[in-house]
Amino acid sequence: MPDILNADLHCHSVVSDGTLTPEQLAGRAAANGVELWALTDHDEIGGQHRAAAAARAHGMRYLTGTEISVTFAGETVHIVGLGFDADDAAMREGLFDTRGGRGKRAQEMSEQLARVGIHGAYEGALRFVGNPELISRTHFARFLVESGICRDTPEVFRKYLTEGKPGYVEHRWASLRDAVHWITDAGGMAVIAHPGRYNFTANEEYALFTEFKAHGGRGVEVVTGSHTPQEYVKYAAVATEFGLAASRGSDFHSPDESHTDLGRLPPLPGGLTPVWELMEDRFL
Ligand code: AMP
Ligand code: MN
Ligand code: MN
Ligand code: MN
Repeated sequence: MPDILNADLHCHSVVSDGTLTPEQLAGRAAANGVELWALTDHDEIGGQHRAAAAARAHGMRYLTGTEISVTFAGETVHIVGLGFDADDAAMREGLFDTRGGRGKRAQEMSEQLARVGIHGAYEGALRFVGNPELISRTHFARFLVESGICRDTPEVFRKYLTEGKPGYVEHRWASLRDAVHWITDAGGMAVIAHPGRYNFTANEEYALFTEFKAHGGRGVEVVTGSHTPQEYVKYAAVATEFGLAASRGSDFHSPDESHTDLGRLPPLPGGLTPVWELMEDRFL
């Protein structure tokens, strides 16, 4: 299969912090020319059967997907899983546990925001939540925009929801080892999501890639809506250095918020092995 295939292997639905249903996303992806699609909700695979059926109805190939929240070297790292068995019991349980602390974290975020004069943020965020087990910072961001406290979601994150800001609550997610094992033991491929987004030193980044590989991780996102063109080049070189396959995904969340639409990304740089070439037997 040629690597000019329009594959979009990263996006979010109402099952996590996106604003479209799996069916709406499938329709939008197909209209934008996507040929191979994966829905990758945060810490959730509850939308997988719907997404696969909708992909089929639109004539797209489908890979199961998720994006697991991990704590590594004191930072949150996201690991995308692709092509696993969505009914795998250990994977479902691992994701259930990973989602577990979100409710309490959200209440603490709300208490902190109240101390700087923003009241009712928990209840406000809840109105944007599609899945009660999956309340995220994005839902708080939508509430703060709706209330007119901030102009857009990037402003909310900058002023309130990132480390050192009044609504930020430290949280411990899954370990890198567990996340990679849940995915690979369920027959899938683990992929480091948007590596250009982490605030790691060069040594920490090297440790992330080295440990990820040692646990059985096999891919890295090179072309993503979260990377600059310079980062495409940088992470293409990193993929080659570490012998990792390369992935491509928009990280689309919402027509109103996401600057990169489904399927609207440059192709992978030449000389890389696309993750989908190693998973043709997992296509649905
Ligand atoms: P959480 O899993 O609750 O920590 O929320 C993480 C989500 O917040 C990410 O998946 C993004 O959708 C969103 N997010 C994180 N940082 C930003 C940012 N700077 N601007 C807009 N959205 C962001
Ligand atoms: Mn998100
Ligand atoms: Mn992410
Ligand atoms: Mn994402």
